[in-house]
Amino acid sequence: MNVKVNFNGTLVEDARLSVFDHGFLFGDSVYEVVSTHRGRPCFLPEHLRRLRQSAEGIHLDLPFEDSWLKNELGRTLEAGGFPESYIRIVVTRGEGEIDIDPSSCGRPNVLIYVTAPKGYPLEYYEKGINVAMVSVKRNWRESLNPGIKTGNYLNNVLAKMEANRMGAQDAMMLNVSGCLTECTTSNLFWVREGSVFTPSLSCGILAGITRDAVIKLAGENGFPMEEGEWPAEILDKAQEVFLTGTIKKIMPVTRLDGKPVGDGRTGPVTRRLMRLYDDLLNRFYGSEPS
Ligand code: PLP
Repeated sequence: MNVKVNFNGTLVEDARLSVFDHGFLFGDSVYEVVSTHRGRPCFLPEHLRRLRQSAEGIHLDLPFEDSWLKNELGRTLEAGGFPESYIRIVVTRGEGEIDIDPSSCGRPNVLIYVTAPKGYPLEYYEKGINVAMVSVKRNWRESLNPGIKTGNYLNNVLAKMEANRMGAQDAMMLNVSGCLTECTTSNLFWVREGSVFTPSLSCGILAGITRDAVIKLAGENGFPMEEGEWPAEILDKAQEVFLTGTIKKIMPVTRLDGKPVGDGRTGPVTRRLMRLYDDLLNRFYGSEPS
């Protein structure tokens, strides 16, 4: 695997984390995934803000200033030398006793991974994907709040495995009240009569950075946009469905549980938003890095 790893400010060839790190033992960590466009990290201030919010959400003091992280990220990107990069920033609780209580943990460990993005097959964007409604429920907000991006993703791992068994590319999860939430690593949108809908944060979802950008783009381009709490059946009337995420960007969903959404093809609103999102990235990160 060609991955550059920055471990607490040092670029290490063969990075190893302690078996006593609570990130490993208890999933006690926070993280962000950042993509690049023309070699530049996209929405970095937004990702760093969310990393801080996630850390606050689990009462973890980040042991660095944003300027330090940006500098280390720059060094790691340079060492990677990939035309485009997949960036993963992980902060763990650190090494401690084999005990759920984190008070024995010393300093958090800060890791920055940089590698070439794997991406998704072009076909997914042209023809759309099949998403399965799975039986696994999204974590309830009062248990492990999905709004906090922690390293504890077992909820989503189980949902993804269920989707794999159903032959689908991703899993859609309901919350315990039966309302639509999100997919395993992406936010959910659908379109009906030209209006765009997405579950509200109150449903228990991650406040996706791509989700935010798409909500703004929809508003600026005259698409009525509604956030709310809806049961799964609302999707029976959807003419288009799509997912958003840092790596996926905007990905059309043309089948739900194997059944076609609308006419079974990527719809015009989804296509328009895909173009608008690409334009946005080109506008902000368009020129080659100096
Ligand atoms: N929802 C979940 C559960 C995620 O893990 C992710 C991204 O990893 C998203 C939504 C999309 O968020 P973003 O657009 O910030 O990548």
